[in-house]
Amino acid sequence: MDTAIVVFTRDLRLHDNPALHQACARARQVVPLFVADPAIAAPPNRARFLTESLADLRASLRERGADLILRRGDPAAEVIRLAGAVHATAVYIADDVSHYATARRLKLERECARHRIELTLTPGLTVVPPGELTPAGGGHYRVFTPYWRAWRAVGWRKHCPVPPHIPLPPIETIGRLPAKAPASPGLARGGESAGRKQFVSWRQRLLAGYGENHDDLAGDATSRLSAYLRFGCVSPLEVALGALERPGGEEYCRQLAWRDFFYQVTAAFPDIARKSYRPGAAWHEDRRALDAWREGQTGIPIVDAGLRQLAAEGFMHNRARMVTASFLTRNLGIDWRRGLAHFDALLADGDVANNAGNWQWVAGTGNNTRPSRVMNPLRQAQRFDRSGEYVRRYVPELAGLDSAVIHTPWKLPPAQRVRMGYPGPLVELA
Ligand SMILES: Cc1cc2nc3c(=O)[nH]c(=O)nc-3n(C[C@H](O)[C@H](O)[C@H](O)COP(=O)(O)OP(=O)(O)OC[C@H]3O[C@@H](n4cnc5c(N)ncnc54)[C@H](O)[C@@H]3O)c2cc1C
Repeated sequence: MDTAIVVFTRDLRLHDNPALHQACARARQVVPLFVADPAIAAPPNRARFLTESLADLRASLRERGADLILRRGDPAAEVIRLAGAVHATAVYIADDVSHYATARRLKLERECARHRIELTLTPGLTVVPPGELTPAGGGHYRVFTPYWRAWRAVGWRKHCPVPPHIPLPPIETIGRLPAKAPASPGLARGGESAGRKQFVSWRQRLLAGYGENHDDLAGDATSRLSAYLRFGCVSPLEVALGALERPGGEEYCRQLAWRDFFYQVTAAFPDIARKSYRPGAAWHEDRRALDAWREGQTGIPIVDAGLRQLAAEGFMHNRARMVTASFLTRNLGIDWRRGLAHFDALLADGDVANNAGNWQWVAGTGNNTRPSRVMNPLRQAQRFDRSGEYVRRYVPELAGLDSAVIHTPWKLPPAQRVRMGYPGPLVELA
């Protein structure tokens, strides 16, 4: 084969990239391409993370003799146009599961067939590809624990090495990186280099204690790899293999398996971000309460701390995501789709499968085996932020309070409450 195009989507890396690896193994010349589709323009935090990831990928490709070709428009149309210009006869792209990705794949399949271009779909977005594991009765796994057992028992694909040299044919227009969007002040830096560095340093310092510490809100002991996984700056397979060989690796892989679990649910139920997986719940509109929740002004310190962390960093600790989501849906009775939209607008790691899968899990409309379970924010705060340090970090009005009162400021004398400028609770907690 003479020339192949590799379409980068959510696999913005050179390490363990099956699409790039296969193209380099089979074609004499390889054209790495990224198409920015205006139909799915990312909100600011993800736009910033994406631009940094593309810049890093371009730099790494240049070190290997190639470049990242950038186009803007409909992905299938841009792929066909570029294939015509460079006389490519093959296209490689990682398979994906969302509504959008499925429509993109179908269009690409049609257009490639029409132009007699060979299209290869590769794995790489998950450790185990969606659909590879099926329960005895067929279909997809609806419950996590049996999925986890199957996930751990199955053999994984082989890790792909980085191509040492990537020969690029002459191309007239390389294309410019999108401008950097304004973002949350504490947003992590995007890109494969930053993601790999983060993994290595976190593994060295914190993996061994992951099982014990991952729920400690103030400890901030989780890997913070989610946005790098979201954009494929790091390979989930490489991360799983790199963790498994060490103490703490098994607990950590269980979390990575949750990610794969929601991908296989989404592949089977692509409407996951729009419709309840398990319909029946009734919600009500409360604009004022929803606004207070979004702004981190509910008067419940642990909930407000989570939402303010999200605004400040484009990230929220998993335990805080659960508490804030449960408060919105269970205590305020507001539709999980409202919360999902707010998370989606701010999270650097926001993606359809994990955001919607988790929101539905918490709201009791999804893959939770105990759908009626409600989390009491106070009890959660006392268990996972006993000293109040997490609240102090993100809610400065309460920074002067000690651990005995920080989670229940409504019990303070009214004059002190007014001085602090912190709102009273939106609802009474049972
Ligand atoms: C309401 C709600 C919404 C969420 N939305 C998203 C989202 O949009 N994108 C996203 O990546 N995660 C989402 N999560 C899952 C989880 O909160 C984050 O993946 C995690 O907090 C990221 O931090 P970390 O990388 O330090 O995680 P770690 O604890 O270090 O875990 C390692 C990796 O495992 C995966 N993982 C961990 N927990 C989960 C989980 N519950 N579900 C799926 N994958 C998991 C992530 O890829 C994570 O990076 C959501 C959880 C809730 C409760």
